[in-house]
Amino acid sequence: MSNIVVLGSGPAGLTAALYLSRANMPPTVYEGEQPGGQLTTTTEVDNFPGFANGVTGPDLMEAMRAQVERFGAKIVIDTIQRADLSQRPFKLKTEYGGEILADAIILATGASARYLGLPNEKRLQQSGGGVSACATCDGFFYQQQEIAVVGGGDTAMEEATFLTKFASKVYLIHRRDSFRASKIMIERALANPKIEIIYNTVVEDVLGEAKVSGLALRNLVTNETHTLPVTGFFLAIGHTPNTGPFTGQLDVDENGYVLTKPGSTYTSVPGVFAAGDVQDHVYKQAITAAGTGCMAALDCERWLEAQSHGG
Ligand code: NDP
Repeated sequence: MSNIVVLGSGPAGLTAALYLSRANMPPTVYEGEQPGGQLTTTTEVDNFPGFANGVTGPDLMEAMRAQVERFGAKIVIDTIQRADLSQRPFKLKTEYGGEILADAIILATGASARYLGLPNEKRLQQSGGGVSACATCDGFFYQQQEIAVVGGGDTAMEEATFLTKFASKVYLIHRRDSFRASKIMIERALANPKIEIIYNTVVEDVLGEAKVSGLALRNLVTNETHTLPVTGFFLAIGHTPNTGPFTGQLDVDENGYVLTKPGSTYTSVPGVFAAGDVQDHVYKQAITAAGTGCMAALDCERWLEAQSHGG
């Protein structure tokens, strides 16, 4: 029996594991740093088919996980640190479990939130001092406080709107004078009396020692700078694909997303398949991640079958 390893436990990884398990090829799933993937950091999911009244991200992922386990996949709390794809079986070094060998790999490691790279940003994020890239996780701590979100996409709109449940005021800071977010989400944010938009502005630093006390802002049109007094700062400026252990071993595009052969999940390395956000900078939806997870399982199954008949 082939040893198939699925990396990542979001909709892509779990759907791949489900299909493989049901094909009598139960894989080992390495959960990764964000068990359940990005959906575990969202609230209501209204666009996943099959839930007439919506479902929360964590509930949806819990259900997917239970379904996968029912068919025999093994889900391991561990993360891949290093990978050697130069020969088969592939060698993977995990954080806790040492070295493992894999006949095939499904890479479903997703993408991680981006930060601005400001002098105090990481420090205040790691210390829990008020910098966050997950409104769902941390919004609760900002009851009746004035906070800020940076970004101009759907995530920024969604997070700013969500944060008004707790905060007394949410500043939405964007570097341009128009948003790339979808019309309906922009309208929702604009109509919210607790949200104030600050256009044409960049955040130059996060201020505060132990806790965020404000943001140093610069208006890109007037070049004027000023301090915005806020106690929380949420980043919503997109994501970076999680390919760290595979750097230089798989073909990627200019933004680091894994390249797959058109219409398939085959990567540049035979036996390695990619699904979900790690290879998708266009759709990035739970349902498309699940769809490509299914494709990866089928591609993997057929590829292994072909290998067993001599390739
Ligand atoms: P996007 O890439 O769509 O948007 C990122 C935003 O951050 C842009 O407005 C960009 O500005 C801004 N930005 C990027 N880098 C910087 C920087 N260094 N300084 C300041 N601003 C910066 O990412 P999202 O996470 O918003 O969305 C990703 C995908 O997920 C999209 O396809 C989106 O539609 C989807 N999505 C859908 C949701 C839903 O339907 N419920 C919810 C959330 C996301 P600029 O515009 O100037 O480039």
